[in-house]
Amino acid sequence: MARINDNGMVVLKERYLFRHEETGISESPEEMFRRVANSVALAELNFGDENQNLAWAEKFFKIMDELLFLPNSPTLMNAGTPNQQLSACFVLPVEDNTEAIFSCLKTAALIQKSGGGTGFDFSKIRPKGDNVANGGKAAGPVAFMKIFDVMTENIRQSGKRRGANMGVLHINHPDVEEFVNSKSTGKNLQNFNISVGVTDAFMHAIKHDSSWDLIHPNTGKKVKELSARSLWQSIIRNAKNNGDPGLLFLDEINRWNPTPKIGIISCTNPCGEVPLLPYEACNLGSINLAKMVASPYKKTVKIKWDLLENTVNTAIRFLDNVIDVNTYIIPEVEQITKGNRKIGLGVMGWADMLIELGIPYASDEAVALAEKLMRFIKDRAWQTSQNLAKTRGVFPNWEKSTHFPDFPLRNATCTAIAPTGSISIIAGVSSSIEPLFALAYEQRNVLDKRSLKHINFSLIEYLKANSIYTEEILNCINARGNLKESNGLPKETKELFRTALEINFSDHLKHQLAFQMYTDNAISKTINLSSSASKYDIDKAFKMAWSGKAKGITLYRDGSKSKQVLNSGIGF
Ligand code: UDP
Repeated sequence: MARINDNGMVVLKERYLFRHEETGISESPEEMFRRVANSVALAELNFGDENQNLAWAEKFFKIMDELLFLPNSPTLMNAGTPNQQLSACFVLPVEDNTEAIFSCLKTAALIQKSGGGTGFDFSKIRPKGDNVANGGKAAGPVAFMKIFDVMTENIRQSGKRRGANMGVLHINHPDVEEFVNSKSTGKNLQNFNISVGVTDAFMHAIKHDSSWDLIHPNTGKKVKELSARSLWQSIIRNAKNNGDPGLLFLDEINRWNPTPKIGIISCTNPCGEVPLLPYEACNLGSINLAKMVASPYKKTVKIKWDLLENTVNTAIRFLDNVIDVNTYIIPEVEQITKGNRKIGLGVMGWADMLIELGIPYASDEAVALAEKLMRFIKDRAWQTSQNLAKTRGVFPNWEKSTHFPDFPLRNATCTAIAPTGSISIIAGVSSSIEPLFALAYEQRNVLDKRSLKHINFSLIEYLKANSIYTEEILNCINARGNLKESNGLPKETKELFRTALEINFSDHLKHQLAFQMYTDNAISKTINLSSSASKYDIDKAFKMAWSGKAKGITLYRDGSKSKQVLNSGIGF
């Protein structure tokens, strides 16, 4: 039976465990995993016999109950309930007319209400002040974004959490300067992550200090010319001051677009891990790496490659099934989602795994292992998708895809690394591929009223395994959230437990780039910078991400948001 810690139980009880309307009794975590497994295994009936269905239901149950794998929150919350909307990620097109904009707003509201997050590229909207047919003046993309923001503020996902949005504007849109500054007061667009869609041409223009043309999206005519470097500086200033905007590297994204004949990608889901075509949806799941280690903290430690392989195989089948048992808000979403059958298998508990293995996050060894591990996961994921294609058929757009003819796959993409914000709490491990944020910290705003106190489990286990666990050390960890000033600890222990802000931004980025090499979609990663980071550091991080073939980058300088969700140290 799943061993879920106190924080995990708080999160599950508040938002995930199904509550019977009349009796008020909710299910146990085990019952939740059964509900999800049974519902997702129903897809087997389309392809096999009843025995297959039961056998797979058992396997799906097992990988969740043992916390080896968890699907994204909408699947955990909704599978087998009246709201059978199971995807976390959507991108919707925004066209340049009132009817289309408000129709998009409605679809977004329905998606968010059902538990999904939405991304929008606003670049087709004519610039502010432009003429409109009735003789008036256009409001421009940023004004419309504010309407979407208010919608999100008032719609709760499955009645359980606030929605999330990604807003993108192309670097050559005439309103790009307004967009770049749109979150500078810290008050606007609080339900949006914003990213500038930059091109290789723009990155070259910065390098050569050339001018940059802003182009009217409808006429294709040049509206304004400015210095590429001054625009870049304003992006950097805003990213430094409030974490937004991030960047999306559109050319790199499209170099990896598996279906360019179906469409060009200009946007991602809210947290950036899935570049999607208009109307496309994707469902995600994450493998818990902290469970993939034998003899943790000991000299005989090793990775359980067989368990990892089996978990990948079962998880890919699970995610492929989700596409078929899912319900779709509108036919356009169903059509393209089933046409490409994108899924995104990722990881969580990476920092915990490294600690179990005794490898510091900020080390070449960790980066090399990241590459090796993700390559292994991607290989197995593709193998499973190819096997599924043999019995279930390739994804319908396969012949129009870049996989044709060499890779007969069931899914246009198989991997993506999500932030795992909630599911990592349920699994009780570090999130995604992030280093430990702190060894002890308080997390606000997770749920409406409460905050959660976290103490890293791998630290306690490590201290015990090495016979260096004392009350004094525990007090120090609780007070500060790091081991920097605790006396008497070996140097390698302090190295091993360096936290997000003690790790240089380039080491953060190296992990993102290593995982990206073998990830079909993208990576959601926060590149943490200390509060003293300069504009020069931010310039360097952005350029390193682009030249290192990231698909996007999000920075966060400590303290730059007044309502920071995570704060180091618990202070009791
Ligand atoms: N997401 C959302 N609202 C939220 C958090 C996440 O809509 O409050 C969506 C969003 O598309 C994000 C994706 O879920 O990119 C995955 O986020 P995460 O891994 O943190 O979700 P979890 O499954 O842990 O809840």
